[in-house]
Amino acid sequence: MGQSLTKVKRFLSNNPICIFCGGVTPSTSQDHIPARSIFIDRKWPEGYVFSACDSCNNSSSDAEYLVSFLTAVGWDILDASEATKQKAKEVFEEFIIRKHSLAKKITSASTNQKRALARQSGFELPRGATHSQIPLAKLPPEFDAALKTFGVKLAKALHYLHSGNQFILPAEADITAFGETNTSWLRGESFQDYELFNTLFPVQNLRRENIVLSQQFSYSYGMTGDFRNSVFICRFGHVFNLALFVVLDSDEFGDSVNRSIDSLSENHSPIP
Ligand SMILES: [Zn+2]
Repeated sequence: MGQSLTKVKRFLSNNPICIFCGGVTPSTSQDHIPARSIFIDRKWPEGYVFSACDSCNNSSSDAEYLVSFLTAVGWDILDASEATKQKAKEVFEEFIIRKHSLAKKITSASTNQKRALARQSGFELPRGATHSQIPLAKLPPEFDAALKTFGVKLAKALHYLHSGNQFILPAEADITAFGETNTSWLRGESFQDYELFNTLFPVQNLRRENIVLSQQFSYSYGMTGDFRNSVFICRFGHVFNLALFVVLDSDEFGDSVNRSIDSLSENHSPIP
């Protein structure tokens, strides 16, 4: 305990400013982004720890549970490992306790719709599974506020990390977030089909102790050399994606980011 307190103190003295509220507030705690609750077996990626003030650290706990729930959807039929199944069970139980009214609102398509979409997209059912088990999730608008909170915080953290821990986004940075589930992918309307994203850096497959964490979280990104614009395409589990766009200036990359936002908006709505 003493040792870990010393570690936290050292971290805060090396990272004295909260990176989430514009670079003006002293940091008081460490914030794991994405939240540790989305990772199985206490194996979260190393280095994804950020300095936060108390208010920023506490601003996203509901949103984090929502995303850990979305991340776990489908694990029970698409992943065989016992640890994964156990984690899915815990997440579902906790979510139902904490968010009973919202949990009931995650609608699933009818079996006929699932069958039609699966045929259209060439989706292959795992052995022994039936079409009704395809984890096809649709998100109700009641989730918007939480997803926006989560997405904005994630964009600030990843932007800071990929600037080499140099650039804290100022308060005026414009952050646009889009969320999609596998319902969009099966329709061929996924973020991943957009041209700009093919030019991004390769997917970041995070590891911890030689375990690849991509069944929980992976992402690709692009960023300008001056750290003023960035794009992050984040995938959580099997059914949920977030696309995050950070624009501080309208230079050439900023323009292409804005064009991507326009083009995505034809099939998706930004999270308000
Ligand atoms: Zn803060």
